[in-house]
Amino acid sequence: MSYLPSGDRYDTMKYNRLGASGLKLSAVSLGLWHNFGGGDIYENGRAMVRRAFDLGITHFDLANNYGPPPGSAEETFGKILHSDLQNYRDELIISTKAGYYMWPGPYGEWGSRKNMIASLDQSLKRMKLDYVDIYYHHRPDPNTPLEETMGALDHLVRQGKALYVGISNYRADRAEQAIAILKSLGTPCVIHQPRYSMLDRWVEDGLLDLLEREGVGSIAYSPLYKGILTDRYLNGIPADSRAAGSSVFLKPEELTDEVMGQVRKLNDIARERGQKLSQMAISWVLRGGRVTSALIGASKVSQIEDAVGAVSKLEFSSEELERIEAVLGK
Ligand code: NDP
Repeated sequence: MSYLPSGDRYDTMKYNRLGASGLKLSAVSLGLWHNFGGGDIYENGRAMVRRAFDLGITHFDLANNYGPPPGSAEETFGKILHSDLQNYRDELIISTKAGYYMWPGPYGEWGSRKNMIASLDQSLKRMKLDYVDIYYHHRPDPNTPLEETMGALDHLVRQGKALYVGISNYRADRAEQAIAILKSLGTPCVIHQPRYSMLDRWVEDGLLDLLEREGVGSIAYSPLYKGILTDRYLNGIPADSRAAGSSVFLKPEELTDEVMGQVRKLNDIARERGQKLSQMAISWVLRGGRVTSALIGASKVSQIEDAVGAVSKLEFSSEELERIEAVLGK
């Protein structure tokens, strides 16, 4: 079945500039960490990518190790890209990363030049691409000189294998050094990808200030706190949810009475705003314009539709923000 993207795909999505760069990202981006692996239903992943693109999502986020098995999400995405989106490559921002464990031996993880260069070559092969739009160092490496890791990123841009580079999971002090090194090499760091949501606010302690000062954009991953900041768990744990599945990244124990008490109160505030809780959670990370894009995950098309719906109500009254702060206890 051939696919023709929707003609009105750019009408409602918002596009935000990534820091001081020339690149804009859709306010909502789709991550392929879960639900695009070798054991997942291909047609479901394909339907999600198509629907996302139809709704104006231009940015798709991957990493070498997404699956399971590691690498399979890139293979799935490559297959979707070449069957449905190959005429639209110039409308897409595709990112990948290296840094977590990927292959055995001393070169299959962290931040050596060897790892960073070999891993991107592998990712490009899996996705059948000549270049990615954004290549990230996925996590800081305490044992490799930052100059070496950033030098590898700069090298890959000069080779044309990545158009832009970024860092992920770096704390403010290390991020500041990485940004300075990349600047000195002439390849700016355009993006930082940290975890950020109403239930996980570490970036507010210096990182967002730094990025703003340096003109570096940001994309907040897990803005729904892995699904907890939605209506998913209000009435127990559905059998098809992440918490019920085999993901080690969301265990039922995380759904404590305290957390679920907060979620219920936040859900009430969202409903009074005329939004679903998932939508309010996305609007909230984007409030004030310091975060460029909210990087969601999804297991079904309807969740992508929900997420994109957030874009029509991004503003908060000061009273709403105060009520949210009171629930979060800050
Ligand atoms: P989210 O916090 O957005 O959680 C996504 C999950 O929430 C979905 O898989 C789904 O789970 C549930 N959900 C989504 N929308 C709805 C909805 N409308 N109603 C009810 N439930 C919903 O993000 P993720 O944790 O999935 O991470 C997103 C992306 O961020 C990843 O794919 C990856 O690209 C990136 N990431 C980057 C990391 C890094 O180190 N740089 C680390 C982690 C993520 P369910 O299966 O229950 O339906």
